[in-house]
Amino acid sequence: MYKTFFIETYGCQMNFADSEIVHSILVNVGYVPTMEIRKADFVFINTCSIRDHAEQRVLNRLQEVQSLKKKRPHLIIGILGCMAERLQKQLIEKNKNVDLVVGPDAYRRLPEMLNSLSTQDKAIDTLLSTEETYSDIEPIRLSSNRVSAFIAIMRGCENYCAYCVVPYTRGRERSREARTIIHEAQVLFDQGYREVTLLGQNVNSYRCDTVDFADLLALTAQINPLLRVRFATSHPKDLSDKLLETMAQYPNICRSIHLPIQSGSDTILQKMNRKYTLAWYKDRIAAIRRYLPDCSLSTDIIVGFCDETEQDYKDTLSLMQEVGYASAFMFKYSERPDTYAAKHYADNIPEDVKSQRLAHVIDFQQQSSLLSNQRDIGQTFEVLVEGVSKRSTTQYIGRNSQNKVVIFSHTDEKPGDYIYVRITDCSAVTLFGQRIE
Ligand code: SF4
Repeated sequence: MYKTFFIETYGCQMNFADSEIVHSILVNVGYVPTMEIRKADFVFINTCSIRDHAEQRVLNRLQEVQSLKKKRPHLIIGILGCMAERLQKQLIEKNKNVDLVVGPDAYRRLPEMLNSLSTQDKAIDTLLSTEETYSDIEPIRLSSNRVSAFIAIMRGCENYCAYCVVPYTRGRERSREARTIIHEAQVLFDQGYREVTLLGQNVNSYRCDTVDFADLLALTAQINPLLRVRFATSHPKDLSDKLLETMAQYPNICRSIHLPIQSGSDTILQKMNRKYTLAWYKDRIAAIRRYLPDCSLSTDIIVGFCDETEQDYKDTLSLMQEVGYASAFMFKYSERPDTYAAKHYADNIPEDVKSQRLAHVIDFQQQSSLLSNQRDIGQTFEVLVEGVSKRSTTQYIGRNSQNKVVIFSHTDEKPGDYIYVRITDCSAVTLFGQRIE
């Protein structure tokens, strides 16, 4: 009788890409994926540690999953990802029904660890590697559309931003061999995919032998002009002119850059160990505008970092005003154990101040997103069709090169088609338009 497994994934795109790798590893040894948690013999939760809130969500979910074991005692529960790495055997000590704890670099050992549970009670492997990139494993794609896919091109991070747990949970930075990445992108294109997103925690520091990130982007774009290429997440310190020149050279490299600023204050940036100044960041924004005038910009912002003054926070708002981001991910600072900030700084901004600052930046960004979208009204964009809109079957959804969601009335287009859409209306998060011939 075959055994079935179910994976639930939390956190960033890298985690979703990892779940696709885990699917592949398990399917290759004969296990069968199921979409129904109640029918699974193995339930895995692929976890995120980036904020306390993210961990609490997983722990609450874990309680529900553990209750399934009452009716089905043979059920195996495994914790994967960053929480597995951070908490290790504590996860088993505090949650008696957890059977497996597997860190992000140990997924190849999953089948062996599952087998070991026939002779032992629990299994843990959280060893981090300096070499593992899973480059020989063809992920089983789990995205809801067959148009766009993620390709993890590197793993880990060693920037040690003072607030961030990633260098401790995902280990040293290592890049995949370029030829394996290009092969994966080519296979996806041949299967009908029309967009790949190259993923890494610090994607533009990619380097393998003599190939840097700009070279890799060019090689991927050369596969076919019909293959759109995106990437996430860039670090401002590694945003070179060569990279921007390469983007400008290939129209199929999308005009959208996610460039996390985190704070608009040099004092805070230095405390965060972000390794750039505000002047450097602004210089990079000016360079983007020079090389790619139609490029949209998005960012990440943390408010309420240790010692952040009212002025520091206002400096963040000024920067947001100056850049006019199309979108942003905004968070309150959440202290993570073992990070530099947790060890050396006081988490001294009161919770209510953090909340007020966050509410204000969110509000500010809403207006900025709306303005950015309003500027698109009347313009025509090439849109890659993704499928039916969630709201109505007569409407389809796609994205333009600037990574904005575009909704339009369906005629005869199919997912994967490129069409032209004239924008007639917008909200802060969506463009609405009419297809033009
Ligand atoms: S660049 Fe900084 S914030 Fe991003 S993953 Fe690395 S350490 Fe974390």
